[in-house]
Amino acid sequence: MSSITSDYHDVPAIHRAPEYVRAIAPYVGGKPIEELARELRLDPASIVKLASNENPRGPGREAREAIARAAAELQRYPDGNGYALKQALARRHSHSIDEIVLGNGSNDVLELVAQAFLRPGDETVYSRHAFIVYALATQARGARGVEVPAREYGHDLAAMRDAITPRTRIVFIANPNNPTGTWLAAEAVEAFVAAVPRDVIVVVDEAYDDYLEPAQQSPAIGWIGRRPHLVVTRTFSKAFGLAGLRIGYGVMDAEVAALLNRVRQPFNVSALAQAAALAALADTAYVEESRRINREGLRSFEDGFASLGLEWLPSRGNFVLVRVGDAMRVYQALLERGVIVRPVANYGLPEWLRITVGIPAENARLLVALGEALAAARGCADG
Ligand SMILES: *Cc1c(COP(=O)(O)O)cnc(C)c1O
Repeated sequence: MSSITSDYHDVPAIHRAPEYVRAIAPYVGGKPIEELARELRLDPASIVKLASNENPRGPGREAREAIARAAAELQRYPDGNGYALKQALARRHSHSIDEIVLGNGSNDVLELVAQAFLRPGDETVYSRHAFIVYALATQARGARGVEVPAREYGHDLAAMRDAITPRTRIVFIANPNNPTGTWLAAEAVEAFVAAVPRDVIVVVDEAYDDYLEPAQQSPAIGWIGRRPHLVVTRTFSKAFGLAGLRIGYGVMDAEVAALLNRVRQPFNVSALAQAAALAALADTAYVEESRRINREGLRSFEDGFASLGLEWLPSRGNFVLVRVGDAMRVYQALLERGVIVRPVANYGLPEWLRITVGIPAENARLLVALGEALAAARGCADG
């Protein structure tokens, strides 16, 4: 894939599309299992995909049953206000339902913030190596993304504060961050939010918060009453195991939520997604077990990487960044062994691979394949 910048003879209208849209480099996701299976003529069931930070366990039973029940009513539009789910979320976070905006994934909420607040020429601020959707959402509006150099691969909050100008409309923070797995303590985030001018929106993206140990989970949603420029996003795609359904949400001041609802599609979250999320929210045992499996998987990766003599970044997410040298070669060698991981050169990390924590058998398979792939990439696979 490449960005559309060259001449078009067939569709002259493309010339009329905004230059900043034509210049967008498309998002590159994890390679789908079916695609690799076709390319290598492999049984899809034999492929291990640890590339998109999905929960490897599949959705919980409660969520699956809710989906089956909701399927019987699919001739109807979903509740455009997501009343039942918002009520449950409001209870969970001690906020009112008019302070919650549901999205088709939390990605949708990030886009809604960009759509509501950005016009061409405005600026957003985010960190180098931060989640790439911040840059995409910015560029799609003709705004300018100010990428602040990272500090030890994580957010440099002091430098981000200094990068705010009168043109800044939004600051994005991912905590924990994807793809680095770095994490900021609550006190640091709280001080940052307090230091950002009130006419600048601060988005704290907490997609991985449910993977944190309870004592480390973010209290940021609780600051919204005092900090009306704060938007906190969460998702059902990661620890709740519902990435395929696309549902996430943001918590924010009611006036900010009302603004986002003006640009939101009336039915942006499907009926199945709402029903599944409601059930998943109540299934605390599933999330706790997912957290435990993730913790143990991270530990087995760390042990494995240490045995292979590899450097990695300590991660608070369900994935880990490991330094392998020529990452594209190692990535290809892993694909040949039926294992899909994620190259992150597009994040400015060409020597690293991001590997999602799987179930124990997948993690073991990855570690064996990684040892072989490293040897193959060094050109000594066949002795
Ligand atoms: C996965 C992810 C998201 C959003 O995922 P959705 O599936 O759209 O909810 C948001 N932020 C970060 C940092 C992520 O890694």
